[in-house]
Amino acid sequence: MVQSYSEFMAMGGISHFPSGQNVGKPLTRAFKKQRADQSPQRMERLKKMLSESKTGKQTLDFLEEKGSKLVFEKMQYYGYFSPDNNLVALNPAMSDEDLAVTFVHEVRHAWQDSQMQTTTPEMTPKAFLVSGFEIEADACAAEVTYAHEMREKNPKIWDAHQKSPYAPMSTAFEKTFKETGNVEQARSAALLTWYDLKVKNHYSDTYVDYMSAVAKELKKQKEMEPQYFAEDRSSKLIVDTLGKDYEGKQFFTDHQALETPEKLSINERQATKLSRAMIPYMAKYHRTAEQLGLDKVTVNRADGTRTTCGAVLKQIKEEQRNQAAAKAANRKSTER
Ligand SMILES: [Zn+2]
Repeated sequence: MVQSYSEFMAMGGISHFPSGQNVGKPLTRAFKKQRADQSPQRMERLKKMLSESKTGKQTLDFLEEKGSKLVFEKMQYYGYFSPDNNLVALNPAMSDEDLAVTFVHEVRHAWQDSQMQTTTPEMTPKAFLVSGFEIEADACAAEVTYAHEMREKNPKIWDAHQKSPYAPMSTAFEKTFKETGNVEQARSAALLTWYDLKVKNHYSDTYVDYMSAVAKELKKQKEMEPQYFAEDRSSKLIVDTLGKDYEGKQFFTDHQALETPEKLSINERQATKLSRAMIPYMAKYHRTAEQLGLDKVTVNRADGTRTTCGAVLKQIKEEQRNQAAAKAANRKSTER
């Protein structure tokens, strides 16, 4: 009854793709030129660029094992992965350097999907946010690892990354790698840096939109479907399952970091939208804010102060109650 996240995203009307990166205006300009090379030769060239590094080779191996289809498709993003169609799509308007890292990024999403269902409406909103942020941070960290491995053979890939909005991740990777000489630690540092990027806010928007739509749908339905928003999947399980490289080596272990206010947070507008959608659902299903993990989700207000999504929800509920009471009082006085 309730659509999966990827189906929901595929329906459109949402400004950002789940596993794509919004590139905005430069891409719109590139579109107008209409010179995108979509030839099979180009796809082979990209595959060859991947085969020159360890992570790239493992990416290709995984793609073959999973049997995912690989296509060029014009879009507003670098690329996307569709679990429903087992398809990886790349935007031909981008440069080879950008597409090689996008290739690594999107196939990493396919790998995540093979390990666990990463964004399912059966998860509590808290777990959904932890997982949703983690899969993006992780896919972006995989890109950086590939770019690092290619630095000598093709420095243009690293340079392109350093010019992208994701540059703080490659900078963090480089710094940690210089200090420790350890790729796993560097990859982990890059992953944690994703949370400081502006793009996190776009993902918060899509996740909040999705969960709000699910809550509204559940409120409408006649039958009860208690399995939704019920699985309080732990951050430790998410990190233990997804924080590995393709060889199974655990490079990321700090599950507690994913629940800090800096990482597990949304803005006030998003918290208000989510709360308004959740309140009628929670009344129908007798769910508390704590059961949904909303007390663990930090809300960053525009003035720099912080609260929790649970507190925002409580306040909205209070306001709604007061309004209803005022309305009832008003009605009484006019009846008289
Ligand atoms: Zn992604």
